Amino acid sequence: MSAQEPKKGRPSRLELATTFTFEAAHQLHRAPEGSKCSRLHGHSWKVDVLVEGELDEEYGWVIDFDEIARAFEPVYDALDHRHLNDIEGLQTPTSEHVAIWIWDHLSDALPQLSGITVHETCTARCTYRGPDPQ
Ligand SMILES: [Zn+2]
Repeated sequence: MSAQEPKKGRPSRLELATTFTFEAAHQLHRAPEGSKCSRLHGHSWKVDVLVEGELDEEYGWVIDFDEIARAFEPVYDALDHRHLNDIEGLQTPTSEHVAIWIWDHLSDALPQLSGITVHETCTARCTYRGPDPQ
């Protein structure tokens, strides 16, 4: 057996992540009184798009990273250099809602989507793993 072949019994499911960034402002009107988040401010947002699937033995990958990048383009165009509160469905643009919104606008184009992690700052992030199974 060559070093390239998976060992017997090794799980064949893997998760990939591609990281994107965009710039956008938001304002959390529902934040408790005195919260700095209630003031208009911006972030350099970072988004990890997580994709899970089986290893394609022919190509040696789960999915082409370029395919993830192509799927993310409309999401980037919708969010970059925007006031997130103005976007339909993002009237309360917390990291949680941004992660759910991105999932909802990406899952059709990326059926293997397994998670969205939104980094609002270097130390604060939220991961959404998709809706609960029906
Ligand atoms: Zn903020």
